[in-house]
Amino acid sequence: MEFIDLKAQYQAMREGIDARIHAVLEHGQYIMGPEVAELEQRLAAYTGARHCITVSSGTEALLISLMALGVRAGDEVITTPFSFIATAEAIVRLGARPVFADIDQATCNIDPGLVEAKITQRTRAIMPVSLYGQPADMDELNGIAARHGLAVIEDAAQSFGATYRGKKSCNLSTIGCTSFFPSKPLGCYGDGGAIFTSDDELATAMREIRVHGQSRRYVHPRVGVGGRMDTLQCAVLLAKFERFEWELGQRARVAARYDALFSGRLGKVGRTRDRSSVFAQYTVVLDERDRLQAVLHGAGIPTAVHYPVPMHMQPAYAHYASPDACPVALDMAGKVMSLPMGPYLEPAAATQVAATLLAALGERMPSRADLLAAAK
Ligand SMILES: *Cc1c(COP(=O)(O)O)cnc(C)c1O
Repeated sequence: MEFIDLKAQYQAMREGIDARIHAVLEHGQYIMGPEVAELEQRLAAYTGARHCITVSSGTEALLISLMALGVRAGDEVITTPFSFIATAEAIVRLGARPVFADIDQATCNIDPGLVEAKITQRTRAIMPVSLYGQPADMDELNGIAARHGLAVIEDAAQSFGATYRGKKSCNLSTIGCTSFFPSKPLGCYGDGGAIFTSDDELATAMREIRVHGQSRRYVHPRVGVGGRMDTLQCAVLLAKFERFEWELGQRARVAARYDALFSGRLGKVGRTRDRSSVFAQYTVVLDERDRLQAVLHGAGIPTAVHYPVPMHMQPAYAHYASPDACPVALDMAGKVMSLPMGPYLEPAAATQVAATLLAALGERMPSRADLLAAAK
């Protein structure tokens, strides 16, 4: 069993992907070829944001966003301690300080109730993460930001395609950043990412920063980075995007199956009615996580922990906060475990995962009658 089956996905879309790749090989414009603008238009239209700027990775998307906002040494950016390290890394690379606000126990997203007290004269932005594919509490965060004149960058690396109160993730705040790392819900075959905004000035700044701060050839009004996404990766995504909505439906189906099999028998990361998750991960919450993970691995079932150590307790980041600054994140880091997930995971495989986990917990599998009742 695969944690995320990328080979089955390729087999399902092989013709379209191969045709798109060959078109690039024929025209030979490997950098900033026509597929780049085509993808940017598609993705902007999909999210509803006015601008999409493709970049070399999700990490670079975050960095370029902060640069465009003018974040620099001495500034502070409020973020969650419970994410992939790239979130805080982008802040630190600019000499700014990550200020960690603890997470909500149910959803594992930043707790907006803890954010306002962290704002100082030096705060420039709030950077929530839409963890596991479910948008953070964006309206509450946008409200706080508006009262204090701050920008909000959604780290939507895991949530492209999710909806929040009728709008798409990546189009919920000043800037939205996503990643096309192969295992993300919309993944290419290498590194890639995108930035979304409806602010024309920020979009121009981010387009320039992406290519060494250049406004036209050899004219550099600002400092930038080498941050382009290459044409071949954009071509792969254009092919994969054709089936993206179908794939999200399949992901939701796998999640619903897990939900029904686990109902009342074990804890999972909570979901909120006014938004959808794209299930970048299906994550359960277990008191004996390490033992149960070993049992699943022994049965040939791959799992992952996102994330075993909160960012404020990583050696390179520990001086930004005391170890007891975010007790909820620390607690959840010891309890979360993500299960195999993806559009190509067979129903029988999901059932096998659930049966193995429930047996290890000493819980019985729900009967057919239980499942029918739960579906009502
Ligand atoms: C994957 C991820 C990133 C980084 O994206 P890359 O494309 O791998 O650079 C940033 N933030 C979060 C929350 C992620 O999951």
